[in-house]
Amino acid sequence: MNFDRIKQKLSVLSDAAKYDVSCSSSGSKRANKNKGLGDTNGMGICHTYTEDGRCVSLLKILLTNVCIYDCAYCVSRKSNDVKREAFTVKEVVDLTINFYRRNYIEGLFLSSGIFKNADYTMERLVRIAKKLRTEEKFNGYIHLKTIPGCSNELMHEAGLYADRVSVNIELPTESGLKLLAPDKKREDMIKPMQYVKNTLLQVKDERKVIKSTPKFVPAGQSTQMIIGATPETDRQIILTANHFYTNMNLKRVYYSGYVPVLADSRLPATTMQVPMLRENRLYQADWLMRFYGFKADEILEAEHPDLDTEIDPKLAWALRNMDQFPVDVNKADLHMILRVPGIGLHSARKIVAARKFNKLNAEQLKKLGIALNRAKYFLHWPGIYQSKDYTSNSIRAMILQDSHSKYHRMNNPQLQLF
Ligand code: SF4
Repeated sequence: MNFDRIKQKLSVLSDAAKYDVSCSSSGSKRANKNKGLGDTNGMGICHTYTEDGRCVSLLKILLTNVCIYDCAYCVSRKSNDVKREAFTVKEVVDLTINFYRRNYIEGLFLSSGIFKNADYTMERLVRIAKKLRTEEKFNGYIHLKTIPGCSNELMHEAGLYADRVSVNIELPTESGLKLLAPDKKREDMIKPMQYVKNTLLQVKDERKVIKSTPKFVPAGQSTQMIIGATPETDRQIILTANHFYTNMNLKRVYYSGYVPVLADSRLPATTMQVPMLRENRLYQADWLMRFYGFKADEILEAEHPDLDTEIDPKLAWALRNMDQFPVDVNKADLHMILRVPGIGLHSARKIVAARKFNKLNAEQLKKLGIALNRAKYFLHWPGIYQSKDYTSNSIRAMILQDSHSKYHRMNNPQLQLF
């Protein structure tokens, strides 16, 4: 193996992969102390979280940044004048195994530009996963970004070797896709997702009867949308995500703020960076749908199509629905306790379990670790009476005042989550 050449390819193909956020990446630097194969120096290593909350490091690369398509938002688009590289199947397999043996990574996140056509590229991605599993006996995590428009046969093979597969739907609406990625068709993204969904159901049934039925994408499928390259509202984005969660049984939808690297009259100006806060609010709204029982059109109603940047979406919903509060902490069902701002999933379950033995009051709620600074405006317990003078505006002002002063006290740059 020519180490310098591989290092060169790694530099180009890990840099091009950094725009894909669907593995929740963050950079990592690890020096090479033993004259081994290069050093990671942040190249291609990212972190992701497993179902059980473990953080794993992944080698995150493209097979190639050569592409026959010309998606306006993509650095690898064919009309962009960038250095092009491509790994061979063997190079990706060897890199993965070498990095794994050196403990740099626990898995592989592999995506690709499209050379020749969808099946030609996909066949190589599948070959890499197959070689790793069958020849190298690699048991680490593999996430394959599949190529829209590839055949069901290749999707099936991908599912047998990868832990997770995903197809990016790229833009929240079909009109956005037509404008910025005219070579791509929505149905080419839907078809492989549908195939994975149906096969997952079929394999689940078969495994009930025949335990040895091979596993198929055990970590499920996900997708990614680019936010802010087209003018969709947050409501349109969340409704699209909801559609895919409901109809395709997706594990995750990732929201990737558009990074303006290219000038194009169809795109926002290169100075217009999508604020991190927008991505963050979309992830909060996504959590409300997946874990808190909120419906997409409750979070964002037609009259309020964009998420409030000052307050999180759960608080925003509560302030718009003051007629449903205060809720009795000793009687309300879990569904309603989960809707109280300031009470997370874990805390809501603790409340429901603890009140079987005792009536809860402020002292006991504090003992359970519930922070009442927000929740107190929306909860009722013995001995507390909500002031009739509270309005949604006054509560909002008090909470903002409180969080601003806390922000200054703690100088904490993190957003308050629920
Ligand atoms: S198909 Fe993928 S790699 Fe090719 S230009 Fe479009 S987004 Fe970029």
